[in-house]
Amino acid sequence: MSVIRDREKKRAMDSCIFCDILANKLPSSLVYCDDLCSAFMDIQPVNPGHVLVIPNKHAASLADLDEDTGAHMFRVAQRIAAALRKSGVKCEGVNLFIADGEAAGQDVFHVHLHIFPRFSGDGFGFTFGPTYTVKTSRQSLDEWAEKIRSVL
Ligand code: 5GP
Ligand code: ZN
Repeated sequence: MSVIRDREKKRAMDSCIFCDILANKLPSSLVYCDDLCSAFMDIQPVNPGHVLVIPNKHAASLADLDEDTGAHMFRVAQRIAAALRKSGVKCEGVNLFIADGEAAGQDVFHVHLHIFPRFSGDGFGFTFGPTYTVKTSRQSLDEWAEKIRSVL
């Protein structure tokens, strides 16, 4: 295991704000809860209506999350995305997003799936690296596909 993953795991084990929320040691605004996962409002929303879906059992990263729980979290997220569109919050579109690992922007090391409403001019956006506009050769795409396929 990499040094970074060790550091992330240690930090998550030391204290976990999302486990504290699940244990009612910290307040939250609950949207949904079942045996496997819970959903509550993000304290610092990208836009009003920003929800986080988390597994009830602590998992620091996707690698620690069992697939059934992950699939269930997506099912719940899909329902919440539909609810957002009906809820009256400003919502012209929805983003689902997971930051898995420090380099991917993960700040809280308890897996969480972001669901947030989008509307034109909301100011949120991704920035892309300088090579983003360059189309990759089919040969490279095939090579990467093979590398990934071989370890699935
Ligand atoms: P990450 O950057 O790890 O993908 O996202 C962490 C998210 O957790 C952020 O959107 C942040 O606003 C949210 N967050 C951090 N602390 C708390 C908290 O105490 N309560 C709630 N509801 N959300 C939190
Ligand atoms: Zn936790």
